[in-house]
Amino acid sequence: MTNDELRNALLNAPKNGYADLTDAQRAEMEEYCKRYAAFMDACKTEREATAWTVAAAKKHGFTELKPGMSVKSGDKVYFNNRGKSVLLAVVGSESLAAGANICAAHVDSPRMDLKPNPLYEDSEIAYCKTHYYGGIKKYQWTAIPLALHGVICLKDGTAVNVTIGEDDSDPVLMVSDLLPHLAADQMKKTLAEGIAGEQLNVIVGTEPLSGEGSELVKLHIMKLLNEKYGMVEADFRCAELVIVPAGKCREVGLDRSLLGAYGHDDRVCAYAEIEPLLTMETPKHTAVCILADKEEIGSVGISGMQSQAFEYFMGMLCDSQGVNLQQCFANSFCLSADVSNAYDPNWPETCDRRNNSLLNYGVSICKYTGSRGKGGASDASAEAMNHVRTTFENAGVRWQIATLGKVDQGGGGTVAAYMANRNIVTVDAGVPVLSMHAPIELVSKLDCYMTMLACKAIYLA
Ligand code: MN
Ligand code: MN
Repeated sequence: MTNDELRNALLNAPKNGYADLTDAQRAEMEEYCKRYAAFMDACKTEREATAWTVAAAKKHGFTELKPGMSVKSGDKVYFNNRGKSVLLAVVGSESLAAGANICAAHVDSPRMDLKPNPLYEDSEIAYCKTHYYGGIKKYQWTAIPLALHGVICLKDGTAVNVTIGEDDSDPVLMVSDLLPHLAADQMKKTLAEGIAGEQLNVIVGTEPLSGEGSELVKLHIMKLLNEKYGMVEADFRCAELVIVPAGKCREVGLDRSLLGAYGHDDRVCAYAEIEPLLTMETPKHTAVCILADKEEIGSVGISGMQSQAFEYFMGMLCDSQGVNLQQCFANSFCLSADVSNAYDPNWPETCDRRNNSLLNYGVSICKYTGSRGKGGASDASAEAMNHVRTTFENAGVRWQIATLGKVDQGGGGTVAAYMANRNIVTVDAGVPVLSMHAPIELVSKLDCYMTMLACKAIYLA
């Protein structure tokens, strides 16, 4: 054998996904990304993603799963977990005793939540105070257009949905930053300290009501909110109002190969899970799609992946077949579909390039996450990795390996550990992202498309 022949036979040579993308695949990829962009424009919070998914599921013949319901092969069911998280299943031809094929993504993203008493006036400017949610670089959230999304529960029990800042005719909101002329002290601070959490105060107005009185700018804002939503100031305490970047998902690059949007992490994997499930024929194993909340703050709480809501859902399915839930879990597989960091040549010192995911190299499989010696990681076994490799390659899915940065550089986690703790074999995989957790994140269309094919392959494995 020549060295070239040996090299081809023995060495691993990852290739850019465009190298063998067919014209038909390219057309499919473009169409898929258009639908994904529309989903992103409609869904900027876990509530919006849940509502969108439930509506889409109903349209595709899914029915709400209820205790005691009899469920048979081919049935399509969903469970809306209090409007903030959603679980879907297409019941397989095999018994649930043989396990389910699960894809688990999250639909919450880093942002700024309004505090329970947000509205105040200072120097005749009305502001809302916020408490950031998830891991953000606070300085990135100043001087950019922001939108207000969420829900307000009025005293009479009505829940009012709020979206301000997304329609072209809407106003947007903003957090101010200091002019460079006066920033001598600020510029000496670290990036972490340059903008403090308590400075993330969102400007909501400046025009005072006419007449006498104090805090007339604040009163004016409250009057506008009352006219539009029927709310009074006390209702802020029973609301979930969040501040997210305003604007739509856009193509990025002169070649339009990237998509820029708020919250690709992790709605890019969420959509990749939803779309193939909606139109799926009866699979062999029951296919389960999880869209979880609260991943960005540790998967805690009733709508996070540590919640028993998952057992409740799977328990209802298992009960309908007289199957033991633990047996179902023991034979199940979960793809923890979450994003990875794409290699960024601007910061080569943070990553091990040989083990980092690259843009356009396909869905990235992450054997382990964690930090400081894999702490907190669900470290997938060789067997589990091989199952995913075989499944992807048999389905023509381009994939690559991901690790989250250099050893001891930092780290992170996903829902993988919480799935594996349930005795479910779990592997992390997802879309590589540039500028993760920034107000606008970047992903490649090719990687989005491959991740959708990856989820589809897992459901059908
Ligand atoms: Mn994520
Ligand atoms: Mn994240």
